[in-house]
Amino acid sequence: MTFYKGQIFTEEHRKHLRESHIGLHCSVKTEIKKGGHLSTKTEFKVGHKVGMTGKKHAIESKAKMRLAQLGEKSHMWRGGITPINELVRASRDLRMWRESVYKRDDKSCLACGNVSAKRYNAHHIYNFSRFPNLRFDVNNGVTLCKDCHSEFHKRYGFSSNNRSQLNDFIKSL
Ligand SMILES: [Zn+2]
Ligand SMILES: [Zn+2]
Repeated sequence: MTFYKGQIFTEEHRKHLRESHIGLHCSVKTEIKKGGHLSTKTEFKVGHKVGMTGKKHAIESKAKMRLAQLGEKSHMWRGGITPINELVRASRDLRMWRESVYKRDDKSCLACGNVSAKRYNAHHIYNFSRFPNLRFDVNNGVTLCKDCHSEFHKRYGFSSNNRSQLNDFIKSL
C-alpha cells in the first residue's frame, strides 16, 4: 500500500475522486435528468465540477453573445470609418502614382510633347473606375498636359478608356 501513492486514498477520497470524475464528464443535461424536480440553477450546484463547468459555459456563451453583439456594432462602426481610411490610402497611393508617372515622363506631355505647360495630368490609360487593379500601376499612366488631357476625355469620355484610344489620339494631333 505504501509503495503506491495511488492506493493511499481513503474511501472518502475515492468517492470524491469518483464524483469529481463524474462531475467532469457528465453533461449539464444529464445532471438535470438526475434530479428532475430541481431547477436548472440548483442543478448546477449538484456536482461541484459540473456546477463550475456549467457556469463556465454560461459565462463563455454570454461572452460570445456579447462579442457577437459588439462585433455587429463594431462592424457597423467600422462600416462608417473604413471608406474614409480607404479614401485616405487611395489618395495617398494616387499621389505617389502621379509623382512616379511625372518623374518617368520627365513632365512632358506624351501627346503634344509640351514641356512647359502650366499644368500636367497623369492620365490613366485604362480608366480608373473600370480597372481597379491598374489604378496605381505606373505602366497604366501617362503624363499629358492639361489641354491634351481635356481634349482626350472630350473625345473618348471617362468610362471606358484604353490604349488604342490614346494611340489614336496621339496620331490625330
Ligand atoms: Zn485621363
Ligand atoms: Zn499635350
